[in-house]
Amino acid sequence: MTPDTPLPRLVSGDVVGQVDATVVPRYAGAATFARLPRWDEVERADVVVLGVPFDTSVSYRPGARFGPTHIRESSRLLRPYNPAQDVEPFAAQQVADAGDLGVNPFVIEEALAAVEAAARAVHATGARLLTLGGDHTIALPNLRALAARHGPIAVVHFDAHLDTWDTYFGAEYTHGTPFRRASEEGLLDRDGCLHVGIRGPLYSPADLGEDGDQGFRIVSAVEMDDLGVAGVVQRIRERVGSRPVYVSLDIDVLDPAFAPGTGTPEAGGLTSRELLAILRGLASVDLVGAEIVEVAPAYDHAQVTGIAAAHVAYELLSAMAASGARA
Ligand code: MN
Ligand code: MN
Repeated sequence: MTPDTPLPRLVSGDVVGQVDATVVPRYAGAATFARLPRWDEVERADVVVLGVPFDTSVSYRPGARFGPTHIRESSRLLRPYNPAQDVEPFAAQQVADAGDLGVNPFVIEEALAAVEAAARAVHATGARLLTLGGDHTIALPNLRALAARHGPIAVVHFDAHLDTWDTYFGAEYTHGTPFRRASEEGLLDRDGCLHVGIRGPLYSPADLGEDGDQGFRIVSAVEMDDLGVAGVVQRIRERVGSRPVYVSLDIDVLDPAFAPGTGTPEAGGLTSRELLAILRGLASVDLVGAEIVEVAPAYDHAQVTGIAAAHVAYELLSAMAASGARA
């Protein structure tokens, strides 16, 4: 092979999949997510993976702007068949990598407008969007675009933190406030939203009351042991029903033992095994899109966080394949 030889790919019907790892070693070839084709290499896509390297709105450790690249680099081992969901997520649907969006790192409103425009452009092709962040502020423009298409959205929000606070230092658009803004803007279906994995200290008990007023219910991390994975999945399904569902997943929902590479870690979180099992339970809901945010590789070790995020993406794409097949 020379550098301009097309890479041999796994193909299923008209779906172009991963570079064939039996021909090209997994550590070689283009560094797209899961070694999938770029969006401009396929005629159409059912799911577009888009990186948003933006972390201007974090309150503590910066670095999530390097998250998309890190998740891609950590995704090279993902294989074609997912036995836990009995699905081939890259054969049942066309998944393609759109690369990273160039957003303004200095003007937050401009960055958010660019994310919304990109999301709308993806939706306009009929594809679903899986966003790799980036800090959690990008949930707001993603929800603006989704609500324009589907109406108010049921959000299943995995996070250690509520992210329904009002302002920080007077700023409205931060990674701790996207769901407050989304609720105020009417983007959320207030009867269908749920946080999973919430834990750690708050500012006051009023935080919880205000959160409920925004339309959220909570499955806290301390409930995990009593509820178990099946109980959490049941709570999610009961809350979202048949509504269109958006999964917004902050990697700090995982315990720092499983995801040290993030900006605001909190002890006492989910294991990666628990989280992946809960995500498999989403194969039965109407999953219209998802995002994975707050991966900050400077604090990661041996790709622990990156690998967790890559597998989270894999389970979400597998769940999309299942729900897409139903649609
Ligand atoms: Mn968080
Ligand atoms: Mn968050």
